[in-house]
Amino acid sequence: MDNLFKLKNHAIKKSSKYMIKYNLILEDDCITNIIQTVVNKGYKIIFGDFLYDDGYLLNGHSSNKNIIYLSSVWYSHLLLYRHNIDTITAFKITIGHEIAHRKFDDSFKKTIKLPLIKSIKYLSLLSNIKEVHHDFYGCQLFCDSSKQNLITSSKYKEKYNRKQTNKEDKSDISHPSWEQRIKYAKYGSFDRGLLNMIAEDTKVSITPEIEELFDRIMAFYGEIHLQ
Ligand SMILES: [Zn+2]
Repeated sequence: MDNLFKLKNHAIKKSSKYMIKYNLILEDDCITNIIQTVVNKGYKIIFGDFLYDDGYLLNGHSSNKNIIYLSSVWYSHLLLYRHNIDTITAFKITIGHEIAHRKFDDSFKKTIKLPLIKSIKYLSLLSNIKEVHHDFYGCQLFCDSSKQNLITSSKYKEKYNRKQTNKEDKSDISHPSWEQRIKYAKYGSFDRGLLNMIAEDTKVSITPEIEELFDRIMAFYGEIHLQ
């Protein structure tokens, strides 16, 4: 199992107090099983601080080499709270979200044949749609499409990250705010209605061109209905 975990040097330093407990995660528990499932799908998970702010936030990202990077704080959460059902749920959806990035993002642009609109709002709309889709996909993949699980996961990360930063929960150019993600999860379906909500939140008007774009996006991703 050791090769499942690689920590960059600075991450090891930051997480050193948890490293002593390293072997705990190798117990045959739920977290280990999830990680094994992910590895069996051809992904590698690396914990560490790879982005400027992700060392102390529950963040993840992934690379085109099927590597899923999780912040070192995720590592400590898995050690300390691995029997907490909400931690497990948030972890599963985070991993599923990153798998969706790998599965869909490269072909998104090619398949959708994006119109040549270059406004920031439009780019933000597209990026937000991807993020929201990947939340739903992660929930479908690892949480039996449980709406409650997606809500729980979003609330878990929102609460922890807000505590860490002490900052207001806000959307950025590519990500919805946690409040918006919770609202979308409560809506429960990745469908045209949800795309309209995201358009409204990113302040993009629904023109015939956007309608047509949404048709192609839905044809590409397909609907996801949570229960
Ligand atoms: Zn993402």
